[in-house]
Amino acid sequence: MKTKKATTYQLPLIVLSCLLAATIAALIVIWTVFGTSRSPSEDKYENTTFAMGTYLVQTVYGGADSKSRTEAASAATSAINELEQHISWRQTDSDIQKLNNSAGKASVSLHEDTVSILETALDVAQRTEGAYDPTILPLSLLWNFDAGGTTVPDPSALKEHLQYVDYTQLQLDKQNASAFLKKKHFAVDLGAIGKGAACDAAIDAYRKTDISCGIVASGGSVGVYGKKADGSPWAIGIRNPNSDDTSAAMGTLSIEDGFVSTSGTYERYFQQDGVTYHHILNPKTGYPADTDLVSVTVHCDNGALSDALSTACLVLGTERSQSLLASYNADAIFITKENQVIVSDGLKDCFTITESSFTLQT
Ligand code: ADP
Ligand code: MG
Repeated sequence: MKTKKATTYQLPLIVLSCLLAATIAALIVIWTVFGTSRSPSEDKYENTTFAMGTYLVQTVYGGADSKSRTEAASAATSAINELEQHISWRQTDSDIQKLNNSAGKASVSLHEDTVSILETALDVAQRTEGAYDPTILPLSLLWNFDAGGTTVPDPSALKEHLQYVDYTQLQLDKQNASAFLKKKHFAVDLGAIGKGAACDAAIDAYRKTDISCGIVASGGSVGVYGKKADGSPWAIGIRNPNSDDTSAAMGTLSIEDGFVSTSGTYERYFQQDGVTYHHILNPKTGYPADTDLVSVTVHCDNGALSDALSTACLVLGTERSQSLLASYNADAIFITKENQVIVSDGLKDCFTITESSFTLQT
């Protein structure tokens, strides 16, 4: 009886042991399959820092291990910090601060990155006849949006400062890597091109590493690098200009490569006497740009260019932007004050509206 009883209780124990062993074996197999050849989403590194007065958000994929991904992101951050040291008018002894301080007096030597950005800036300024103007600083300082300005400047002060905004007073000597502001009071502000240039710097940094792909966003500019492991395009949300929620999107742009920059009247603004004043200025009037548009997103193969173009198009309006974009082989998504969305041919197949209050104009 004892033996039988013992046998009765021993059998389930053996079964349980077998089950346990089988479960452990199965877990080992699952871990081996999924733990060592992880999905691409697990082979990524996300990093958010602050640079150029805004958030710098990076996601990098692939590479030998997590260390290479971390290093790729930090190489991009360093490159952007270095770029900021050269091109920000706020940074002590930056190329641009020296240029501004030497206005009407002397030319200054420039780092090659500053030369390249000024070259793009002047090219866009010429093609837009100053709708985008890198010598906007006297005017942008007067409005002071960057430091939270909330009042319309005095009209006489606006008139006075407007005389000091003229890109033809900025001379770039590419060969000697130098620049000169011909008259005093003139000053350069690369705020409308810098974040796109930061994306260029990040993508250049990724190229020197072993990561397989990545995406970087600096304020309203985004750059993508490489192909995603699953072959899907990079999906970029286009900000809903009518929402105060900075993460609210009105549509999705899917791209394989290149750079995307958005400029919008909703970005920095204040209201006075029932009128809204925003931070993108019309250098011809001295006042915020007032066209049919509230937002422009530009896609092209260079970050600095996409950034300068998005600002320029917002100043020009939909009609006048068309030949400019064509001349650069760039594409755009325009959002009008009436929530109409105009998408250029090159983006028609890769843009989807996700917010029903917007209508695609065909
Ligand atoms: P964001 O800074 O929101 O990304 P933009 O790229 O359009 O938007 O740049 C806006 C900044 O560019 C302003 O804060 C100002 O410093 C500068 N700016 C404003 N109007 C112009 C203009 N017409 N041309 C060149 N720069 C401009
Ligand atoms: Mg811009």
